[in-house]
Amino acid sequence: RCGFVAIVGRPNVGKSTLMNHILGQKVSITSRRPQTTRHQVMGIHTEDGTQCVFVDTPGIHIMQRDRNKAINRFMNQTATQALRDVDAVVFIVDRTRWMEEDQIVLEKLAHVKAPVILVVNKIDWLKDKTTLAPWLQSLQERRDFAAIIPMSAKNGTNIDLLLENVMGRL
Ligand code: GDP
Ligand code: MG
Repeated sequence: RCGFVAIVGRPNVGKSTLMNHILGQKVSITSRRPQTTRHQVMGIHTEDGTQCVFVDTPGIHIMQRDRNKAINRFMNQTATQALRDVDAVVFIVDRTRWMEEDQIVLEKLAHVKAPVILVVNKIDWLKDKTTLAPWLQSLQERRDFAAIIPMSAKNGTNIDLLLENVMGRL
């Protein structure tokens, strides 16, 4: 079996960091500066005979007002193409904030038929863990996500859970 999974989210949520963990090597550039990843970075994860191609999808967050910039047009197009034939989407957001750019990504996923798994990243920053449950609850109201997984891409927390969830859908 083989599947194709897009990793999406606004800049700085941790897409490249997750990608590096999945692949176990530094193939995707991570940075504090947004939009470091201009091109798609792909990696293959293999487990029990199932192969999964992960694509770090930059540019899906591009604001409408920026659409005339050539680089933005290019990135937007690349991102949209990546979503056409995916088997699953991993949509990453931050542990506490829902921003306009998250909303733009969500809207771009509106026509995606494949299951969308929401990842709430950077939970290692959470001092008060009791805030997590109500936050996850509020996110579930934004879309019927296939799953919501709290994670720390940096520490590796719950990445195995995410992979298990994704691989189980292929
Ligand atoms: P991208 O723009 O979505 O690809 O985000 P990056 O993977 O480049 O990460 C942006 C910044 O957030 C980097 O400084 C990462 O080290 C940091 N980061 C990513 N994941 C985590 C996490 O789980 N916890 C913390 N504390 N920082 C993270
Ligand atoms: Mg990146």
